[in-house]
This record gives sequence, C-alpha cells and structure tokens, in this order.
Amino acid sequence: MAIVLDGKTLAQDTLVQLKQSVAQLYSDSDQTFIPRLAVVLVGDDPASHLYVKNKQRHAKEIGIDTVCHRVDAMITQEELIAFIETLNDDKDIHGILVQLPVPKHIDAQRVIRAIRPDKDVDGLHPHNVGLLAWGNPTFIAATPQGVMRLLEFADCPFEGARAVVVGRSILVGLPMTLLLGAHNATVTLCHSYTSNLPEIIAQADIVVTAVGQPEIIQGHWIKQGAYVIDVGISRQPNGHLIGDVAFEEASTHAQVITSVIGGVGPMTVACMLENTVKAATAFYEKL
Ligand code: NDP
Repeated sequence: MAIVLDGKTLAQDTLVQLKQSVAQLYSDSDQTFIPRLAVVLVGDDPASHLYVKNKQRHAKEIGIDTVCHRVDAMITQEELIAFIETLNDDKDIHGILVQLPVPKHIDAQRVIRAIRPDKDVDGLHPHNVGLLAWGNPTFIAATPQGVMRLLEFADCPFEGARAVVVGRSILVGLPMTLLLGAHNATVTLCHSYTSNLPEIIAQADIVVTAVGQPEIIQGHWIKQGAYVIDVGISRQPNGHLIGDVAFEEASTHAQVITSVIGGVGPMTVACMLENTVKAATAFYEKL
C-alpha cells in the first residue's frame, strides 16, 4: 500500500518557520514592521469565502496582518483594476491576492496582470511565470510549489523520471510542468484533447493531476511504485470532496499518494504565505 503524504503536518512545519521569520522582521525593525497581505474577494462564491477565511486564519497564526476587501460581484473590470492599483501604490501592503475564480464578466488575466509583480504572492503574473520559465523564479504559484515540497519530502527521485501533469492551467498545470522540468524530469503535459491518457499515465513515475473531475484517473492506470499527487477537488452535492484520482485502487499501485483532504490544500496556503513573507522581507530590506 502507498504511503499517504501528510500535507497538513508538512504545512504546519512551514508555518512554524514562517512565524519565526515574521518575528525576526518585527524585532529587526524595532517592533514596527509587520507583513501585510491584501486579499480581494469578488462576489459571494461560498467556496471562495471559505478559502479566504482559511488563508486569513493561518496568516494571523504566523503574525501576518491581512486586510480582506469584499467587493460586489457586479464591479466592472475597470473599477476592479483601479482598486488593485490603489493596493499596488499602498506602501503598507506587501502582498496582493485576488481570490479566483472571479465572476464571468471579469477577465481574470487582466486582473492578474494589474497586480505589481513584486506583490504578486500567488505567483501568477506573466512576469513571475516568465522568471519561472527562465529558471530564475521569485514568486512561484503556491499550489505547484506545494506539490514540489510534498514530492521532495517523499524523496521523490526527479532526475530522469517520467512525469505526467494532467491539466494545463496557469494556476497549477503549467507552472507544475516547468518545475518538474527544472528538476530534470521528462514531463508530458496532458489536457482535455489528450487522446490516450491511460497509456500515458501507465508510463509515469510521477503523476500530478489538476483537472477537477471526480476520479477521472482510474487506479489501475497507475504504474507500480509511482508518486501520485492529486490536486483536483470536486465537491459532491452531499458536500463530500472527491479528487481526480480513484484513491483506494491507486493506493494499491502507487508508492506515495496524496488524498483530497490534508494533501495539497494545506501546502497551497503555506506556500502562498511563504511568498507573502518573501515579498514583505524584500520590501523591508529596501527601506
Ligand atoms: P482549470 O479548470 O483551469 O483547468 C483544468 C484543466 O484540466 C484544463 O487544462 C483542462 O484541459 C484539463 N482537463 C479537463 N478535462 C480533461 C480531461 N478529460 N482529460 C485531461 N485533462 C482535462 O482548473 P485549475 O487548474 O484551476 O484547477 C484544477 C483542479 O485543482 C480543480 O479541481 C481545483 O479545485 C483544484 N485546485 C486545488 C487546489 C488545492 O490547493 N488543492 C489549488 C488549485 C486548484 P484544457 O486546457 O484542454 O481545457
């Protein structure tokens, strides 16, 4: 049976280290400097509200101040961008996070591009994605960074490994592909037009899935001894969360696996907060 990676404990270890860094900044600054994160939440999506609450709770735990701006769902694109620009110019704000998804009438890419790259703690601005592609990243998108931490913790041998990423979003799949490539894995990127997914998965030493369709990856597709990281989350009508991977059967093939709860999610939050501390530290060092 596979080892189930404990993302919750690993995230907690990261948060403990971050708390120390925040305390150090505070004492170095004669108790004047506190990292501050602005969160912009557009509309009333209940899941987004929950995610933001969770991020704020962990930020508070480690001494980061958060300011949550709840914005009406009917805000126009221009108004939202103008608001982000005020946060860009605010010297007391060191990180900006726009909770995704945004309502359909708003172009998420334009919103992300409006964030100052040095406050982009989600690591999604083209400047930051470009630096990652160049192999010289500053802010790495939190979820793929969290996945790498989990794989590193599990001593995953990256070099020469065959890795398969399912899903190619800017949020997860694309940066994931870049990170695995930077660790010298041979990466195949799959998406909704991929015709032979089972055959590709069957060859993979590392599988990272970020699709959002319940159990789209069947357990018997998984190669014996593979490292399997399931980013996908599908909320069922009864409230249950289901991953992209058929967990039970996949666990009998994989060497290491994550489950939909206590896997990637906590690491995503920890890595976003790590980016916030990084942004704040860079700001403080320029004072
Ligand atoms: P997107 O909807 O942006 O991307 C989904 C991707 O899946 C697309 O690239 C799409 O391909 C691909 N896809 C769709 N159908 C198939 C298929 N049949 N076979 C192969 N690929 C397919 O989602 P996100 O990347 O934003 O998120 C993915 C999942 O991860 C969601 O469930 C989300 O909730 C979860 N998530 C979890 C996080 C966590 O912390 N645990 C953080 C972020 C996301 P195409 O490009 O061709 O359309």
